[in-house]
Amino acid sequence: MSDHIKKRVAAVTLGCKLNYAETSSIVDNLCQQGWQVSSIEEGADLIIIHTCAVTKQAEKKSRQKIRGIIRKNPASRVAVIGCYAQLNQDDLASIDGIDAILGSNDKFDLQSYNDITSGSILTPLVKVAPASTFDDVYQGYSLSSEMSTDRTRAFLKIQDGCDYGCAYCTIPMARGRSRSISLDQVVDRAHLLAASGYREIVLTGVNIGDYRYDDLVLCDLLRKLEKVNVSRIRISSIEPDFVDSELVSLVAQSEKIVPHFHIPLQSGSNSILKAMRRRYDAAMYRSRVMQAVEHITDCAIGADVIVGYPGETEEDFLQMYRFIEELPLAYLHVFSCSVRPNTPLARQIANKERNPIKSDEIAHRYAELIELGRRKESQFKERYTGKKCMVLFEGGKPAHNGIQQRSGYTRNYLRVLVESADNFAGQSISGNEVPVLIECLGDDLNLKGRVLS
Ligand code: SF4
Repeated sequence: MSDHIKKRVAAVTLGCKLNYAETSSIVDNLCQQGWQVSSIEEGADLIIIHTCAVTKQAEKKSRQKIRGIIRKNPASRVAVIGCYAQLNQDDLASIDGIDAILGSNDKFDLQSYNDITSGSILTPLVKVAPASTFDDVYQGYSLSSEMSTDRTRAFLKIQDGCDYGCAYCTIPMARGRSRSISLDQVVDRAHLLAASGYREIVLTGVNIGDYRYDDLVLCDLLRKLEKVNVSRIRISSIEPDFVDSELVSLVAQSEKIVPHFHIPLQSGSNSILKAMRRRYDAAMYRSRVMQAVEHITDCAIGADVIVGYPGETEEDFLQMYRFIEELPLAYLHVFSCSVRPNTPLARQIANKERNPIKSDEIAHRYAELIELGRRKESQFKERYTGKKCMVLFEGGKPAHNGIQQRSGYTRNYLRVLVESADNFAGQSISGNEVPVLIECLGDDLNLKGRVLS
């Protein structure tokens, strides 16, 4: 394709890091076929909207985004892809102006994007293979084009799907069974990311602790990744049953694998954990967290929690509250329970085996946990004021908000802001890891500091 006829593609991603990693791959693969990256503001022949369906709210956000984009970009072709497309194509079919609805595996087939922009087929094109047929992970990943303007952190997909079958979760229906990308391919991609200048690799997947390929597991992969020429490797989200002594001692000894885990908790009440079909109780969760913080210097642990799970009594909620209060957590992500269609939980409610919680009670519990989360986060971050931390600054230009401000993350995932376009050792701090003296914690819970010379 010569330059003057290059088709332009813009992409919008909602949802998790895995979606972001996948969007980047799709866009990059289109670019390798001669497409050109654009933005919605600049105009595009094709707009890809990568959706999320983890909660009712996420679906609503996806619908709003789709409608807004279609209204403002009548000349563009619009492809709606991802979990919402996989789970609810009928909902999407009722929105006028969508040119393609592509499910979790079908979104990787580039021919669909060519077809809808060439006008060679009637639209909407609907391709949604059932999740039960997903038996391999899409292997055609390449470097991220979306992130090429800011070569700081790259999301690297290592796994997809989940076999755990938690009662409330729709992901196994959206993304299929757990499967992993081969160790060699992950390591090759990591080397490519390092060679193109990325400083941090964030491993992504649905249940990355469940990484298994030819008898090799996550710790085997991590040992190989430690040899890649990047400053940081972030595990990020991992189920508590995988935070075992082998992983903890590997992270404790590593100079590259950063001391940060996001370990979903969901509830601190054993009866609710059991109803959720989670694979641990509160005592096991606590022991995994304590093991990590005791052995890994500066280990930051964040957690997801769900409030208002059907059947959650006031006592269950209080147990969760007290449990979290006593745990050394660095931050909380709080969600109100959203009952997803076709899950075991939805069936239990239909059969009157579990009762939904009133919405005002859910709102009350949610507010309490948000406040507790703020308190935990502020307590954790306060420990760093007056200390020196290594901060990896984001690349690109500083924000133009009157003052020049740059932001980056410590190794244990604390966001730090510095004012003015500081240099370190004669080099811009942009995209580099440099020492920062943490001066204070702002009301917005961001740490503020100055670059040390
Ligand atoms: S571990 Fe449970 S909550 Fe997480 S993706 Fe798997 S089924 Fe869903």
